[in-house]
Amino acid sequence: MAPKRRGRLRARAAATAPSERLRIAVPSKGRLREPTIELLHDAGLGPETPGDRALAFPCRNAPVEALLVRADDIPEYVQDGVVDCGITGLDIVRERSADVIELARLGFGACSLEAAVPTESAVRSLDDLRGARVATSFPRLARELLPGEFELVDVHGSVELAPRLGLADAIVDLVSSGSTLRTNGLRSVGLLLDSEAVLVGPAAPREDAQQLAGVFRSVVDARGARYLMLNAPEESLERICSLVPGSRAPSVLPLAEPGMVAVHSVVPAKEVWRLLPALEAAGASSILLVPLERMLA
Ligand code: AMP
Repeated sequence: MAPKRRGRLRARAAATAPSERLRIAVPSKGRLREPTIELLHDAGLGPETPGDRALAFPCRNAPVEALLVRADDIPEYVQDGVVDCGITGLDIVRERSADVIELARLGFGACSLEAAVPTESAVRSLDDLRGARVATSFPRLARELLPGEFELVDVHGSVELAPRLGLADAIVDLVSSGSTLRTNGLRSVGLLLDSEAVLVGPAAPREDAQQLAGVFRSVVDARGARYLMLNAPEESLERICSLVPGSRAPSVLPLAEPGMVAVHSVVPAKEVWRLLPALEAAGASSILLVPLERMLA
């Protein structure tokens, strides 16, 4: 089935004149759709709001057209030149094994491909799955990443029901919080692949696709950081600077009040809960934390 579709896409791609606008495929539904459109928005592209049944939408601020495509089909559309680049899950890119390259990791849609068994199973590790019946909708990745021989049960949707239905001894499926596994009486026995949304392009991407990747990276980096501002007595400065994480030295500015300085720095968002009380205890006051829009190296 796949080769037939590839042929059709190639023929169509060849018949289409190269477009001025950069065509980017975005997931038409599912959990990656909204965060993808939000990324286009935060990158300043000004995406028009697509209706539920829209197939494509333009961007107001850049020569970019977004095409709404099933997330599963995006690697192949990119490979065949139907679009210039696309956003989908890394798990899908690896499973489809399309000839595309990763242009940027996008920091959302995080999940992991894991093997799981019924809670009461004697299986403890991936190695114990040798000879087992394994249900999955990721047959290629299961074959590639599970050790040894096993029997593949190819299923589409509701994979976690397969052991209960007696179809399989184990499953290989995507997990984020783990609550679906628990609800279905399953426990993980090992991680096969960490995944998140990625921007992919053809082996030789257009220059504007590479530029767009840079813009996305700057947004993703900024989302993971906060701009920290605080005031402190000069004598606390050394201690405060030693608390502030990050590769760059903070900026230190004199204040009108004698003996007081302002400290400014970019800090990782995930450190903030730990950092703020420690800074207060070290003598910092008037602490402000501001979101960033872009971060370029
Ligand atoms: P959907 O279209 O909603 O089935 O989402 C498909 C993609 O969302 C997957 O291929 C993953 O890249 C990503 N994803 C993130 N978390 C999960 C999860 N818990 N289960 C399934 N897919 C997830």
